[in-house]
Amino acid sequence: MKVSKRLFELETESAFSILAKANELSAQGKDIINLGIGQPDFETPKNIQEAAIKAIKDGKHGYTASNGILELREAISNMLLTDYNNKISPEEILITPGGKPVIFFSALMFGGKENEIIYPDPGFPIYRSMIKYSGAKAVPLTLKEEDNFNINIKKLESLINEKTSLIIINNPNNPTGSFMQKKQIDDLVGLLEKYKDVHILSDEIYSNIVFDNHKMPSLLEYNNLNDRLIILNGWSKTFCMTGWRLGWSVWPKKLIDIANKLCVNNHSCPSSISQYAGLEAILGPKEEVKKIINEFEKRRNFVFENLNKIHNIRCFKPGGAFYAFPNISKTGFNGSEFSNIALNNFGVALVPGTSFGDSAVDHVRISFANSLENIEKAIYRLSKI
Ligand code: PLP
Repeated sequence: MKVSKRLFELETESAFSILAKANELSAQGKDIINLGIGQPDFETPKNIQEAAIKAIKDGKHGYTASNGILELREAISNMLLTDYNNKISPEEILITPGGKPVIFFSALMFGGKENEIIYPDPGFPIYRSMIKYSGAKAVPLTLKEEDNFNINIKKLESLINEKTSLIIINNPNNPTGSFMQKKQIDDLVGLLEKYKDVHILSDEIYSNIVFDNHKMPSLLEYNNLNDRLIILNGWSKTFCMTGWRLGWSVWPKKLIDIANKLCVNNHSCPSSISQYAGLEAILGPKEEVKKIINEFEKRRNFVFENLNKIHNIRCFKPGGAFYAFPNISKTGFNGSEFSNIALNNFGVALVPGTSFGDSAVDHVRISFANSLENIEKAIYRLSKI
């Protein structure tokens, strides 16, 4: 079979296979609580749904510009100026079907045998998969529980060498829920400023889901990185739009044409209907989103307090996203064993830490994108393991 060897480097996201397994068990009549999947359990706010219906009725159903409709890119450009005081032109912004293609495109641009790409471990599994597919050496930056899963700047610096082409940062982090605040990001940027040949992919897809009245310090606040900074963001998590497949990204001027060519080659353009819905999300009222984030914070507090009451489980306090990443080693099981037992014997779907990298053997990811009632029931069940 003359299939490209590179394809065998591809890895996957086990959250999807766990979802399939959980659905299969539910279909057999088992009482399953799904804390595995990384998507908000709320419906897309009504004003956004209506904007999509209006777009269909107004006949906005054709191809759009491959980089997305101008109104949407303008709206994002204005938002970035207001939020981060960074003047990014609509030409430097790309709209894609979800945020994921930005990881793929970045890996294609900075991959190849001669390059090394640094990525967070534990981290979103698609980073390593795409880096390996690109042919580059995948260099894990281990995030440690004793550092609250934040980036250890000295450790990061020790991994950078003349082959390093790209560093991937994810704040707030999936799967740990860690959130690096302004002072830590200042230190990180101080380091990044020293390595002028290295590009940065800052995955900020959870930027609006941060707790305790903090504001997310985007790397866009540091105007001096613009010429080598790629920002990944989108609608999936903030606006409960995972299935609408809509993401936005910012690219250095010198890379935007290549990124746009990748869009034309790959998907032509993002869904026109989703783009008009996305425009309403950016320009319309935000009360619904605020309510959703408050609800996530309530759940975060509940999960943090109650997991730590279980004598053999220890959980760090997540500062953002909707995940907790408890250490379960004292149960006598590793993360994979614990997740299997949780699903098959106790009806709770979780994702083992090793799905996010080799370092997280003793952890599982708990998504609190489920009702408080279900979360309470699930934690009770986990306390019996
Ligand atoms: N980046 C991170 C850290 C994620 O967790 C996800 C989705 O789970 C994505 C990117 C991709 O988001 P999208 O659904 O918009 O493609």
